[in-house]
Amino acid sequence: MEKFMEMAKKMEEMSPEERKEMVMKIRGMCTCAQCASYNECTKEKNELAFCATGKSECLVQMKECICPECPVTSMMGLINTSYCMQGSEKELRGFL
Ligand code: SF4
Ligand code: SF4
Repeated sequence: MEKFMEMAKKMEEMSPEERKEMVMKIRGMCTCAQCASYNECTKEKNELAFCATGKSECLVQMKECICPECPVTSMMGLINTSYCMQGSEKELRGFL
């Protein structure tokens, strides 16, 4: 099974607590705060891990996306970018 599908299935089988922990782990690995597109608003709202949680509530001006270099990309088998503006990996793959 393709990596992301495998990880998504694993997460679906997790309890709500385990899923929360996984999102916290992703937040801890997330490199968004070093991205030029990450702005004052996203910082104030402490938003991270857009690939898992979906679009930012802020107005994002896309300057770059460093998701491809983030360790979460290889860990989760992500194939998209610009999640803060476009939505989560699941949404972008049309699963939600
Ligand atoms: S892939 Fe992008 S959005 Fe997801 S955790 Fe990494 S930097 Fe953040
Ligand atoms: S999702 Fe991509 S574009 Fe948005 S802040 Fe994170 S690294 Fe930057």
